[in-house]
Amino acid sequence: MFVGHLAVGFGAKRMEPRISLGTTVLACMLADLLWSVFLIAGIEHVQFRQTIGAGNYFAASNIAFSHSLLMDAVWAALFALGYFLLRRNRWAAWVLFAAVLSHWFLDVVAHRSDMPIAPGVHKFFGLGLWTSIPATLVIEGGLWLAAIIVYVRATRPRNRAAFFIFWPVVVLLTLAWYNNIAGPPPPNPATAGISALIFFSLTVAWAYWMNRLRPVRQRAETP
Ligand SMILES: [Zn+2]
Repeated sequence: MFVGHLAVGFGAKRMEPRISLGTTVLACMLADLLWSVFLIAGIEHVQFRQTIGAGNYFAASNIAFSHSLLMDAVWAALFALGYFLLRRNRWAAWVLFAAVLSHWFLDVVAHRSDMPIAPGVHKFFGLGLWTSIPATLVIEGGLWLAAIIVYVRATRPRNRAAFFIFWPVVVLLTLAWYNNIAGPPPPNPATAGISALIFFSLTVAWAYWMNRLRPVRQRAETP
């Protein structure tokens, strides 16, 4: 999944407005960021088939350190603990724990059965939502749309720039997601990790920026 993870990040911000949107988005996408780092380091590997759509083109993958249930629980615990030690906010730490771990469950919905349960264990899960573009548009797209509405209602643009930095990037992220579910595989598996790392890092940086540009509305301001 992609915009589905962002949707959870937006939702987590709503559950605990004191966490930066950048941190909630980082939490929801942590598994993918780790994946891109592990690809670059040669710890994880992917191969692509020449077919259309990310639901189909992952041929062989070995992603258990970034994308297994066990390891995602470990990353979630470390992330939440790190946040708690910095901010001493127990509720926020739990929200972030759930946000990191949510990645595994959403990817199980999207992936064909290649989602591992633990490194070295040959048991895989996946419902394959991404193999159907119409179903993905309705379910993941619907989640994304709902999250944007909730977020926009809960925050307000600080100035005109905030408006113009929010909406075009939302459109770009949506197009990138569509290209992912309906487009060809990356041309070179060897550089897929680097481009993924740049893309995910920019998305997180944008979310930290948006957090400054779109403060949470006070109760009386809510439309
Ligand atoms: Zn993922």
